[in-house]
Amino acid sequence: MRVALEMYPEVLITDTTYSLCSNNMPLIVYEVVDCFGAGRLAGYAIIISEKKEIVTGALEMLTLGFPDMPLKNKVVVIDKDQSEVAAINTVLPNSEIHLCDYHVKEVFKRAYVRKLTDKNWDEVDPLIKKLIHAYSKEDYDMAYNQLSSLVGKDSKFMVYFNNNWHNSPLVWTEYKRNMSFTVGERTTGRVENRNGKIKQVISRKMAVALVIRRLRSMNTISSVQNDYKLFKSLAKTSYHKYSSDPVVQTIMKVNTPFVADIVKRQYERSLEPPSSTSHALTCESCDCPFFIKFKLPCSHIFRERRIKGVDIYDHTLIPQRWTIDLECGKARDNTLTRIEIIAAPLKTNKRKGPMTSEERFNVVQHTLKELGPYIYDCGGDQFQNRLNSVLSMIDIFKKGGEVAVVGTGDVTKCDKLLGQYPSN
Ligand SMILES: [Zn+2]
Repeated sequence: MRVALEMYPEVLITDTTYSLCSNNMPLIVYEVVDCFGAGRLAGYAIIISEKKEIVTGALEMLTLGFPDMPLKNKVVVIDKDQSEVAAINTVLPNSEIHLCDYHVKEVFKRAYVRKLTDKNWDEVDPLIKKLIHAYSKEDYDMAYNQLSSLVGKDSKFMVYFNNNWHNSPLVWTEYKRNMSFTVGERTTGRVENRNGKIKQVISRKMAVALVIRRLRSMNTISSVQNDYKLFKSLAKTSYHKYSSDPVVQTIMKVNTPFVADIVKRQYERSLEPPSSTSHALTCESCDCPFFIKFKLPCSHIFRERRIKGVDIYDHTLIPQRWTIDLECGKARDNTLTRIEIIAAPLKTNKRKGPMTSEERFNVVQHTLKELGPYIYDCGGDQFQNRLNSVLSMIDIFKKGGEVAVVGTGDVTKCDKLLGQYPSN
């Protein structure tokens, strides 16, 4: 969990779930979003009450394992809970607080809010929705003025609205969300989804110790699923079935499926006629909502690169947090993954009788001699990757493990190579 927080600290999503253990202690779940666009557990806190001090203490514990969190975190997505707001302001003072879009809409369904105005709610409701979905400051201001003139500038509803929403530093409108790196998150839905799964294995009759044990087991299962996803990414290469466009093929091949999908759509949009909206952009950055939210190349950047005659797709434009590099780095540190497979078993020629020690020595020497040039004749990343494969193999042998080798990269080329080996 700590490692996930270190790798993906920018956006934290949090939600509290109730009635989990025998003494009714609420559980706070913290989640981050990984390079596969999936939620990754960043922490759990079983708390005695939802008092401000307790919720703050829980968040402090989270940052204890990763002291850079206040510097690295940009956005926390919550439902509107005053204790959580106070905790974030204390522990993560530089972070923006984004309210879950679903919960914002729920608040305006409540009877006590609707009763603050005697106007017909069918007239008020569309204006509230306009405010929530306002795509620009101008759209927001226009809807705000319409609301004010409909319910009355000094009405109870307007006083409530100004205090709790209009003047609130919390982010709840679309245009303000679009001004931050949110990795596209606008609800606490993914944490609520996880809470639903937690409730399938934990009931309110359980003792706290057993709840902790179950949560730990769930975490282990999640880690294994993440390892599998990482292994699949390393061992498989994706191709687009219906496109022969080399840019699309590159995007699919070098990115995680999540990133490949959204970047591909931006690239395809760049092939269509441009819209009338103009953006301040270079070949590397843009001020459009998509780029700000994901920091991934948008349709405008692709179009600009085409006009300027530079390579349409440049992989350095993909921030490291969206690539599997961090995961692989952590895997090498042995802190994240249990995958000890570096790459498809290759059959060696079997001999009838056993080899003498001299023969074994000679065959190994010969094989290593053959291996050498495939590593030292490479440069840059390729050299490093190939060397790392061999070092990982030595490491596994030292620990008494066995190794199977799966070729990554161009699989067809690999298959051809494998075909060159004598099948005995
Ligand atoms: Zn753009």
